[in-house]
Amino acid sequence: MLKEKNTLLQEKYPLLINGEHVNSETEQFFNVYNPATGEKLAEVAKATRADVDRAVASAREALENGKWGRWPASRRGQILNKIAQLMRERFDAIVELEILNSGKSLAAAKGQVMQAIEDFELYAGAVTTIAGSTKPVPNGFLHYTTKEPVGVCAQIVPWNYPLMMAAWKVAPALAAGCTIILKPASLTPLTALVLADLCEEAGVPAGVINVITGSGADVGAYLVEHPGVDKVAFTGETTTGKDIMAKASDTLKRVTLELGGKSPNIVFPDVDLEAAVNGSVFGIYYNTGQSCEARSRLFVHEDIYDEFLELFVEKTKKLKLGDPLQKDTHVGALISQSQWDTVDSYVQLAKEEGAKVLYGGKRPEGANFEQGHWYEPTVIVDVTNNMRVAQEEIFGPVVVVIKFKDEKEVIQLANDSIYGLAAAVWTQDFARAHRVTSQLKAGIVMINNPISAFPGLPFGGYKQSGFGRELAIESLDLYMETKSVISYVGQKPINPFGI
Ligand code: NDP
Repeated sequence: MLKEKNTLLQEKYPLLINGEHVNSETEQFFNVYNPATGEKLAEVAKATRADVDRAVASAREALENGKWGRWPASRRGQILNKIAQLMRERFDAIVELEILNSGKSLAAAKGQVMQAIEDFELYAGAVTTIAGSTKPVPNGFLHYTTKEPVGVCAQIVPWNYPLMMAAWKVAPALAAGCTIILKPASLTPLTALVLADLCEEAGVPAGVINVITGSGADVGAYLVEHPGVDKVAFTGETTTGKDIMAKASDTLKRVTLELGGKSPNIVFPDVDLEAAVNGSVFGIYYNTGQSCEARSRLFVHEDIYDEFLELFVEKTKKLKLGDPLQKDTHVGALISQSQWDTVDSYVQLAKEEGAKVLYGGKRPEGANFEQGHWYEPTVIVDVTNNMRVAQEEIFGPVVVVIKFKDEKEVIQLANDSIYGLAAAVWTQDFARAHRVTSQLKAGIVMINNPISAFPGLPFGGYKQSGFGRELAIESLDLYMETKSVISYVGQKPINPFGI
């Protein structure tokens, strides 16, 4: 990692409105911290509703004057490629900044920043696929459709993948010709601010991307209700998603929601045990368990339950916690004290519900873990699927393990959840893998594999995990309207009433 001071780390980060770095109307700032140490990292502008008005006006003006959306698609594509190139040039500094602000491990941060880069490259290519169509119509008529940007987009992103979630939203919106007000999470706004600067440096015109930092409950909610905003794209908690959907309904905004999960990880008895254990450990503890698609409900067949669990705990013990900037660290810190308290309260609740903490369940021991928000990877057993710890999103390094008897039972248990984001199936039986997959109510299913997202593949959920698929070429449609044009081209003047 970088040996000198990070060039992207500033003492103060202003807002970005209409291509200018500006203070909030009240000149107030809030602090952001390093979750691994608890130390203050920087100050970030605390936007007000008046700042939101300015940002929306700037995005509206950029949309209406056609500075961006009416450019040839290939020119927008060149700029998206340039954004990716600038991110590649500053890769180490962006990765380090993401780690400092989120506490995630180096390996996780590198993978996520690389994926953000590849998202821009994906949509740089996909932009030229935007096309209308034509349909056969009666003689004398001509029909065609055009695709137009949906308009001004509010993009509200969470703290668990600060840059990657911003990229999942910004790249397709820019490709489609929309203008943007990006609202990062208050805990992790730094890399989103850097991304917006790189967009401008690459040639995105002023006003096309604006960044508002500040309270989600205040300026985030105001953005969602704002009559000048056409679309809201949100990733975060399911209850926040419901609130957003309700608030957006007043102006009938287009809404896409990528929300929570309680994803099942199903292990049949015929697995390659070592691979299934390694994949299952990764499936829950990657990103310190702070993933919407974390496989947090582990269903293990009774025939291999004891053997699987023994190996699972053995491997979990091998996970290295510690300085997130070190190459060999597997698991970083939790994002905040409040998240630590939430995770711990679920572990205590599990005990009250009659479950047993088999491993972990506390702050790790040692001087390195006294500051910051560290929690041991935790394994909870003797769980039934109706317990709250099996139904609610914990969003930390905590897996609940449930024993099952047969295929029918495990499909029923896996689907017995308000969520439906992801699921994993581990078996060597090809037919069973696909039979089970076809019955799982989940937007993403992994077979003998713990990796849930690659650029170009649709990502999103069933049920209360939200709707709309991101990360794919078809995600461009979430940022476009279809206009159907029907014209009369006959020789005789048109007179449908015959009058
Ligand atoms: P939220 O869903 O509350 O926040 C996500 C984003 O939405 C942030 O930018 C936040 O801003 C903003 N926001 C918050 N409230 C509103 C609102 N009423 N209107 C518009 N925007 C809003 O998640 P939290 O960060 O508060 O985390 C709470 C819990 O959510 C976690 O403990 C975890 O369980 C879960 N979570 C799930 C995620 C997922 O991908 N499934 C991602 C993140 C969290 P601000 O940061 O300023 O509050």
